[in-house]
Order: sequence, then C-alpha cells, then structure tokens
Amino acid sequence: MQDPPAPPAARPDGLTEEEAARRLAERGRNEVGQPPGTPLRARVAAQLRDPLILVLLGAVALTLLTGDHGDTAVIALVIVVNTGVGVAQEVRADNAIAALTAMSAPVARVVRGGAEREVPSAEVVPGDVLLLGEGDIVPADARLLRSWVLAVDESALTGEAVPVDKDVRAGEPEAGALRAGTVVVRGRAVATVTATGADSALGRIAALLRPRRGPTPLQRRLAGLGRVLAAVTVALCLLVLLLGLARGQSLETMAVTAISLAVAAVPESLPAVVTLALALGARRMAARNALVRRLPAVETLGSVTVLATDKTGTLTEGRMVVERVWTPRGTVRLTGGGYEPAGELLSDGSGSGSGSGGERAPGPPAPATAQAVRALLTAAALCNDAALHPPHDGEERWSALGDPTEAALLAAAAKAGLDRAEMLREHPRIGEVPFDSLRKHMTTVHREPSGGHLVCLKGAPETVLNGSLLDETPLRLERAHREAAALSAEGYRVLAVASGPLDGEPGRRGPGRWEEAGRGLRLLGLAALSDPPKEAAGATVAACRGAGITPVVITGDHPATARAVAARLGILDRGPGPTGTDGTAPTEPPEVVTGRALAAGQVADPSTVRVFARTDPQQKVDIVQAWRARGAVTAMTGDGVNDGPALRQADIGVAMGRRGTEVARQAADLVLADDELRTVVAAVEEGRRVYDNIRRFLLYGMAGGAAEILVMLIGPFLGLTVPLRAGQILWINLLTHGLTGVAMGAEPVSANAMRRPPHPSGRHVLGDGLWVRILRLAALVTAVCLAAALWARETGRPWQTALFLALLAAQLGIVLGLRERLLTRENPFLPAAVLAAVALGAATVTVPFLEEVLRTEPLGPSALAAVAAVGAAGFAAARFESRFTHGAKGAGGEAAGFPGAGGLPAAGGPPGA
Ligand code: ATP
Repeated sequence: MQDPPAPPAARPDGLTEEEAARRLAERGRNEVGQPPGTPLRARVAAQLRDPLILVLLGAVALTLLTGDHGDTAVIALVIVVNTGVGVAQEVRADNAIAALTAMSAPVARVVRGGAEREVPSAEVVPGDVLLLGEGDIVPADARLLRSWVLAVDESALTGEAVPVDKDVRAGEPEAGALRAGTVVVRGRAVATVTATGADSALGRIAALLRPRRGPTPLQRRLAGLGRVLAAVTVALCLLVLLLGLARGQSLETMAVTAISLAVAAVPESLPAVVTLALALGARRMAARNALVRRLPAVETLGSVTVLATDKTGTLTEGRMVVERVWTPRGTVRLTGGGYEPAGELLSDGSGSGSGSGGERAPGPPAPATAQAVRALLTAAALCNDAALHPPHDGEERWSALGDPTEAALLAAAAKAGLDRAEMLREHPRIGEVPFDSLRKHMTTVHREPSGGHLVCLKGAPETVLNGSLLDETPLRLERAHREAAALSAEGYRVLAVASGPLDGEPGRRGPGRWEEAGRGLRLLGLAALSDPPKEAAGATVAACRGAGITPVVITGDHPATARAVAARLGILDRGPGPTGTDGTAPTEPPEVVTGRALAAGQVADPSTVRVFARTDPQQKVDIVQAWRARGAVTAMTGDGVNDGPALRQADIGVAMGRRGTEVARQAADLVLADDELRTVVAAVEEGRRVYDNIRRFLLYGMAGGAAEILVMLIGPFLGLTVPLRAGQILWINLLTHGLTGVAMGAEPVSANAMRRPPHPSGRHVLGDGLWVRILRLAALVTAVCLAAALWARETGRPWQTALFLALLAAQLGIVLGLRERLLTRENPFLPAAVLAAVALGAATVTVPFLEEVLRTEPLGPSALAAVAAVGAAGFAAARFESRFTHGAKGAGGEAAGFPGAGGLPAAGGPPGA
C-alpha cells in the first residue's frame, strides 16, 4: 500500500463512542428547527373542513330532521370512511417522505476511539474530531486542528461568493474557525467540533436548510381542476333538484339527493390519491436505488426530455489505466490492467508517436526512452494525492483511494519500479496548488535532498503545453500538441507532465500562494489513460433514445476523447465525422463543442450539440439554461464540489450516492444509491407510471361521476322519477372512488412507457384527449344503465335497485377494462378491491339491514344477469375505447390508451430515434 503524501497523520483519537453517546443525550441532536409532526386531531380537522364534507354534514342534519335514518347512516358512513382514507393516505405519504429524507440525510466523517467513522451529521457532538475533504458540508461549528490548502465557501452564511482560505497557522482566530453549513471547496482538514444544533451557525441558516414543502405543481393543477369540477357539478345538481321539485318531489328528498350526487360526482379523493401515488412512486424508486429528495421530482422525472451526464465513472468505468507514455525520447506501452502495480514497460511496437528511439518490435524500451519515462512517472507520482490498496475484504483486485486519474499514474509508476513512499521521503512535499476543474492542472513543490526545490506539474495538455509554464521550443510544444491530439482521438484521457527547479526561495507562503511556482518547467511528456466505457452504458443510451430522451455528455475532458466515447456509446447522431469543434468551420450544426466555443457565442443552437467538452462548472449552468430556454426538461448528473449550481438549475439534479460529494448530494433532486446511470432511466419509468396512473384514475373517477349525473338528469325524462336515492349514490361512491380508485395508484408500469416520448411538462393533466374519453365513457355507461332500468321497469322488476347495481357494476367493469394487462399479478390490491366491491354491492340486496338502509329490493336471477351484463358492457367499453385510442395514435402511441405526447418535443426528440 502506498500512502498519500499529505497524511492526516498524528490526528487525535477523538471521543469514545460512549462519551459521544453521552454528549448526544446531554446536548441534543445536531439539528435545528425540525418542524413538529402534525397531530392526528389536526389532520382529522383539516379533512372535515373540506367543503364537500361540510355539505355532507349539512345533509346529515337535514336527514335527521326529516327522520330519514337510513340516509343519515349512509351519509355518516361516507364521512367517516372519506376522512379515514384521507388521513391514512396523508400519514402514509408523510412517512414515505420522512423515510426518504432519512436515507439521503447528510453524513459526516469523524474519528471516534481512534477509528474513522461515518455518522449522520445530526449525531455529531461537541468535541468530535471531524475529517473534512473537498465537497464536504461542515456539519457543525468547529475549530481547525490541521489543514492542507483548505478553502471554504461561506456564501450560505455571509453571501460572500469568493471561497475563504482557512489555515490554523495564520494566527487569526477567524482563519481557524469553521462554521456549520459552509462547504469545503478545496483541500482537507481535521477539526474539532465546538458547537452543534441551534448553538451553531446552523441556527442562523436553519430556514435555508429546511426542505421545501408544499403542493407539487401537479397537485396545484389538480386542485384547480377540482374547483372547476365542483362548480360545474353543483350547478348540475341544482338542475337535478329543480327537476325533482318540478315533478312534485319533496324539497327534503331532492335536497339530500342533490347533495349526495354532488359528493359522489366530484372525485374528492383526487388530491389524496395524487399524494399517495407520488409517495408510492418515490418508494418504488428508492427500491430501485433512486432516492428522490423532493416529492415533485417524481412527476417531473416522467417528463424529462434531456439527460445530461458527465463521462468519467458515469459513462465509463472510472477505472483508469495508463496505457501509453509519450516522451520526446520515445514512446512506451504499459501492460497490465486495473490498479494492480504489476505490468511491464514495452517499446511502442506500432511506432506511432515514437520519437528518436524508433523501436519497432515490442520489447524493452531503449535505455534513453526508459529513463525519460521514469522521469515522467516520478513527477506524476510526486504530484499525486491518490493511494493504492492491495486486495482486501474479500475483493480480488487492487483498489484506488482518491482520484482515479492519479491512482492510475501511481500504478504506472509502480510498474516502472518506482516506490512513491521512498520518493516522498527523499522529496517531501512542502507546497501544492491542487487540481481544480477550472485550471485543469496541479502543481506540487518538493524539497530536494540537495537542499534545492523541485516543482512537479501535471494537467490537461492545452493548459500545460504553452510558453507561460514551459521553457520549451515552439517546435517541441507543437509536436507535443500533435501527439496529444492523436492520443485523444483514440479515446485516451491525456495528461501532460512537466517538472523543474523552483525559481528562487520558497519563503513563507500561505495556502494558494504557489501559483507562480510552475514557471519555466521542462516538458517530460504525455501520459495516455484509457477508461473503457461501461458495458451497460450503451444499453442505457439506447433506452433513453427509445423513450424520447436525448442523451448529452458534458465533460471536462478533451473533445476528441469525449467524442470517441460518445460515438462508441451511440450518443452522436451522425456518427464520428469531422463535425466542427473549436476552430473548424462546420457545415452542419456541430455535435461536439468545447465550453470555450459555447462561452464565445460560437454555438448558435446548443440543443443540436450532443457532447460538450472541456467545460467548467459555470458553463454547465449555461448549458442547462440553454436547454431549458428551449422548453426541455433536463436531468443532469454531477458529483463535484462545483456542480451544485448546475444541479439546482436542472429540472432534476442527479448526484451519485457513493462517488459524489456531500454538497452535490444535498443539491440534487435525485441521488443514485448505486451510482449507475441506468437508475435514472428506471426513475423516469416510475415517474411515467405515476403520471399514467393518475390519468387512469381521472378517467375512471370522472367518467363514473359524469355518468351518475347524466342518469339523474336524463332519468326523469324517461319516467324514472328519482332514478337513485341519496344513500345509493353514496354507496357507489364509497366502493368506486374509495376502494378501487385508491388501488389504481399502484397499477404496474405500462409495457411501452419507455417506448414513447415524454409527456410535455406544460400539458394539462386532462389534455391530449382525456376529456373526450371521459365524456365518451360516461355517455356509454349512462346509456347502458338507463336501458337496463327501463327494461326492468317494463318487465315489472324493481328498476331502481337494478339501476343502482348496474351503475356500480359498470364502473367496476371499467376499472378492470382499463388495466393494461388484465391478469397481471402485480398490484393484487386492484382485483381484491374489485372483489370486495362486488361483495359489498351484492350485500345491498341480500343483507336485510342494508336493504332497509339503502331502500333496495331483492333482484331475481334475470335482473342480476342484466346487472352482470351491464358490468361486462362497462368492461368491454373501457377495453374497446382504450384500443380505439391506441389505434388512432398509431404505432408507438401508447398502452391502454394513456397517451403520451402527440409528437416529439422540439428539444427532446432525437432525430430518427
Ligand atoms: P468527466 O466528465 O469525465 O468526469 P471532468 O469534467 O471531471 O470529466 P476533469 O476531472 O475536470 O474532468 O478533468 C479535465 C482534464 O483535466 C482531464 O482531461 C485531464 O487532462 C486533467 N486532469 C484530470 N484530473 C487531473 C489531476 N488529478 N491532475 C492534473 N490534471 C488532471
């Protein structure tokens, strides 16, 4: 094992576990202002304040006055069940959200009893020893014990955008103080916690940390719809009331009937069903490794049109291997894979890129080449913070700690027989300018045994190969550029390495004061690292395209490297051809552009671009904004310390649960527990399922409600004076909206949910023809039910009971008819709910008590057969209607008639996908 050079050595042992537990009990959790849970009383009261329930309470009073005890009982039952279901769904949804929040809650690294541990930030106590690294959120107020080039972003507290250098040696108390809620943007530190919870700076920014709550956009839109529906329904019910009065019915009877009808026709359980569907969706996503941090993200995921991903570790394995090293004195190939420090250096048999050595057959490199390569690998290993671990914990392979690029360079150095620990003993590091994605290179300064100082530098060729850093002839720089371009085009990640003596004395320099150290260096050469694309990435890209989602790569790597990977995975539409990158004049819109070209305004339409290379974090934000301005719904992955703003800007910010930094995780809407891109696609599928099920519920609930109103309106004209009694209407409502409707929320995902384009995010939830379908189904059900009632009347059977059961049967038939796969074993709740509803329907004509309450009469076999036939008609109508819609949409439309978009959204659709 090789140790990193700047060790968290000689760190304190920290508190013991027992002491930490004692302090936690004494001082409380490191949290502020947790909103108290809603008490049950308040939840019930909120349900009872619903206008529809208030109306029903009025109806209870009315029926008590008129002595109509049967109706009183049924209405009271409806109130109890509705309130119970509403409260239960709210509690379930809250629990699901709480569980998700806990899963993605921030964690902190502490030392306890001498061992490093990860604990929930809420369990950090005063006196704990904290270990902080780039991208960590400082969990509590703390005092620095040691630090290495530490810089902290305090903008959450102070609004100051420029990161603040922190160094315990600076002498000022402020430079050694860390505040809760700030972010480490560079370097590492060991610190001891001074204050937690409300005593810490966290108290000051508590409001910022509290998760945003409130109704989701879909819920708001549905609430609006509910109000419109309520108004229309009330108007129609008034009409029913007037019709009844005109026919000589008593005011009390008609008032109760109209009220019941209003309650039954409005899908009042809709908000509860939506909340529950979202919460269940979030839970299913969690089971598939996608942790949603905000409930609205569940529905937004369904309409994602662009998936912007980084490259290393997301599209590629993230396991780098140095395969070639070019030096001005010749090129070598390195054998051996993974991080295992075993392999050989061979002369580059291809001759490509070989310099004066001119080796042909693979064999040991010429001594001059070998020496030059060793010099390069020495500098690369010194300018390095990674570590390699031999196989442990049952693993078979060596693993890397730290940046995979640096780990690969360490493994290559080991293959050349270089021992980094020994090198560091001889050349201790005295200063560094860490790598960051803006500068794209890293510098370290070492003391030489002779007393002088050595500067080592490595980084992206474009930033290193220039006269301001290197003291080289233009000819040699030009040649190195050519070599770097050739290697990048083969898909390698290329790093240029240089070294040289420090100009002048180091003197006393604070953190970040070594920038000028890297001047006048000599170029040692280029290291070419391979990072194979993930096997599953190609399939994920194909799945995205099939679902109308455009995959886009945003990387800090070289355009040629990025293009090679993107072409291999099928991300480029036009295949690998000379589309314009920086500097070239494209004949068609470029598919690969650099961040600089974008910033310079050279890209007319970023939505034609599939690969953005050499980007910096600010450009990521610009790219997301450009897509969004074109109406795209973007999901974007990120894990770096600077990715927060882009993740927040995207409609769905996606962070990696394992590899990502804490700050990225906390900025994201979706955290991938397994770091796999395909998990985003799984989450999109779940999002589409939730949306489909909500629309399915609307179709079912509103068609049934409309049919009830139509029956009540048309019935009297056909001589059915009061078609249904109040209790009967409410009984239907209970069994349809309450029982079966809620079960619909868990219906399985449609077989082709991912073979159709996403629904446009701005479209109304009843849009794309759902309105028409509701009315069509309602008309059909009304006609069949009225026909059954008329037949019963003509043949002297109890027509009202027949009509009541027919309406119930028709709606239960519709529920089953709307299932995409009728006999699927997924969601057994639905068939169970239908069976229960059938039994409770049958009970109304067999159980004397219910007969009395609901005023039903026993039905003979032929009347029951007629009711069953109406149920079958409802089923057939729903099935036929779905097919009809499906057929009308053509292939690639949708399943069981749950329409997606009419066409590809302008920004989202990959041409020819
Ligand atoms: P990706 O999208 O592949 O994750 P990225 O945006 O993270 O890429 P960076 O890590 O910023 O890309 O790397 C950009 C370039 O900087 C690389 O192509 C490489 O040349 C150089 N580079 C990367 N890591 C280091 C390092 N540790 N030291 C010096 N240079 C580096």
